[in-house]
Amino acid sequence: MDEPAAFAPTLGRAAEAEFEQGLRPRNLSEFLGQERLLEPLQVMIEAARGRGEPLEHLLFCGMPGLGKTSLALALAREIGAPLKVTSGPALERARDLVGILSGLEPGTLLFIDEIHRMPRAVEEYLYGAMERFQIEFTLDQGVHARLLKLDLEPFTLVGATTREALLTSAFRSRFGHVLHFEPYTAEALERILERSASLLGVDCAPQALRELALHARGVPRIANRLLRRARDVAQVEGRARIDPGVVARTREMLGIDGRGLSRTDLRLLEALARAGGRPVGLKSLAVAVGEAEDSLEEVVEPWLLREGYLERTPQGRVLLERGWKALGLAPPAAEG
Ligand code: ADP
Repeated sequence: MDEPAAFAPTLGRAAEAEFEQGLRPRNLSEFLGQERLLEPLQVMIEAARGRGEPLEHLLFCGMPGLGKTSLALALAREIGAPLKVTSGPALERARDLVGILSGLEPGTLLFIDEIHRMPRAVEEYLYGAMERFQIEFTLDQGVHARLLKLDLEPFTLVGATTREALLTSAFRSRFGHVLHFEPYTAEALERILERSASLLGVDCAPQALRELALHARGVPRIANRLLRRARDVAQVEGRARIDPGVVARTREMLGIDGRGLSRTDLRLLEALARAGGRPVGLKSLAVAVGEAEDSLEEVVEPWLLREGYLERTPQGRVLLERGWKALGLAPPAAEG
């Protein structure tokens, strides 16, 4: 997904993936700040161990960058399961899925990222696989049609989605447990940043960590990217330590103001202000801001909504008082 400039990766895709890989929690105890999610998981792990069965299928829901992939990977390690990673868009045809499922080792944790993007026809093959570890498919057509059953090794499916609402209830109900990832508190992000700084071997003043955490919008991926940018600034300025001054200059360089608003945020608020208080639909907002609809909805808006700059109504997005104030404008007088 395209990400707004201030939070977009600076490296190429491969290098970015490598950077993220290096900072990923290696086991559940390194998965910080989401204790609420881990508790039920621990119980499920124990119960499955006791029964000698694979872990139940899990669905991870939440915004990009909250740690869905990281948790799936850490989970596989924790339970000592072989891991297979794929994504919804990669499973374009039923045979892509059958190929993967039939090659799984017993007890594999199969992680399907962006599972909402898997075609419906493919999804239906997954049902039997999830319920009975069996796929049924028809070979040939008409009078020669035959129903074939293929037995699979038991496995655990972990699906991740940023758009839970796009999943059918038939699909959702086949997961044993649904985990909702919430934005992290600034304290949790500080702990994550502290760990990242030590892994990267950068010295970061406690106050600088705190400020980086405050500007990360509750998202560990953004926190880690800000840290890396700050490390670059410190290096270019010949400083051995990331201090609050380095963080402030990093922020300015990225076009993020003291309130945490990026240029994309401001463009969005301005587009809403131009509508003079009338609701604006996602489509026209995306055109006005120059961002893709899904990146506006999944990456930019959640924080602005949480912080009370705007609200979503059935008719569209509307600026709230805090949004008007951020632009130095007075909200239009209520009609009445
Ligand atoms: P998602 O799959 O939800 O988009 P990722 O699992 O790829 O998110 O996480 C993005 C980055 O954020 C990873 O590189 C990882 O280092 C970091 N991260 C995410 N969650 C945590 C966490 N709970 N503790 C430590 N680091 C985390």
